[in-house]
Amino acid sequence: MARTQESGKATILEDAPVAKTKGYMRAARMHEYGKAPILEEIPIPDIQPDEILVNVKACGMCRSDVLLIDGFFRPYADVPPPITLGHEVTGVVSKIGGNVPKASGFKEGDHVVVDPGWGDGTCRYCQIGNTHLCPNVRWPGFGPAGGFAEFIPVPARYLIKVDNRLKFEELAPLTDAGATPYRGIKKLRDAGALGPDRVLGVFGVGGLGGYAVQYAKLLGSGARVVAFGRNPDKLKMAMELGADHVISIKGKSSADVAKELNQAVGQKELDAIIDCAGAEEMMQLGFSLLSISGHYADVGFVTDRIDIPLFPRVHREQTFHGSFWANYTDLSEIMALAAQNKIRHVLKLFTFDEINENLDLLRRGDIVGRAVMKF
Ligand SMILES: [Zn+2]
Repeated sequence: MARTQESGKATILEDAPVAKTKGYMRAARMHEYGKAPILEEIPIPDIQPDEILVNVKACGMCRSDVLLIDGFFRPYADVPPPITLGHEVTGVVSKIGGNVPKASGFKEGDHVVVDPGWGDGTCRYCQIGNTHLCPNVRWPGFGPAGGFAEFIPVPARYLIKVDNRLKFEELAPLTDAGATPYRGIKKLRDAGALGPDRVLGVFGVGGLGGYAVQYAKLLGSGARVVAFGRNPDKLKMAMELGADHVISIKGKSSADVAKELNQAVGQKELDAIIDCAGAEEMMQLGFSLLSISGHYADVGFVTDRIDIPLFPRVHREQTFHGSFWANYTDLSEIMALAAQNKIRHVLKLFTFDEINENLDLLRRGDIVGRAVMKF
């Protein structure tokens, strides 16, 4: 017997492989901050006329799922529970709203990924395609229902049709882990920070860093790529994914790391940094290694405060880029790279029933590559 306890309209599950009730679906919902999500049965959602119902096939798990549960975002957006988690979503078109234009070309059975930054479509950020920066942005998995559920309603304009040949478990993480560093490295490239005589540091080699290393090679205009981290398994992964060098920073001073960098690439400083972690100590190290006219793009935030000296930033004319997630254009470019088999993945697959144990593994930093739930 799968159903054990009634909770409003929802039914809490213990071990059901599929929803037992017609018109219902399995979903992982956080009912209280600081507590593990509950795996339950809830009604399959209705769609608005401009939406498409996606039958979720895979959903990646992100450090920000853990941060959401732990209350990290509450000072910025105190979203009331229950929240269906999951924002790295891919699946199959199941039902199309009546107002979705024929010209969009969607049909039932299409494979799609969800572009997650849903803007209002009217502000100046939306008008130029940065819907994810919209002051009225909505994010699936952070209020609107997310992808740790069998179905998700998505505004049609935020779906991207993908090559049917691509694996769902590889598509899911490309919508965040494999998209966020892409946008960050584009910013470094557009700022002129990359080139054949430059050295680009990738800080943090977790779920995002493995992709960052690959984009650094794809977009780096010949820049040499050095990955920095603490975990030997993750550094090994970075090397396998194309880093020219890896440097363990564990227990080392800034001077030690600079010396090792010099031995590896013939210079003690980094011309550009893509930071996938956003951890204070690592950022202090990164800024201490940043060259004159260096560019630092941060896409991570495991802490929310850093203490760094200001004067070197000014007299060395360094630039700090905040870079957030990705927009539709970034994601479309990534899907094209994926269709050309240019992106490799290090994945840890798990089932719906294993969501909570994987959240715990992620919280402890014990996942190499990206954890992806597959239905
Ligand atoms: Zn907007």
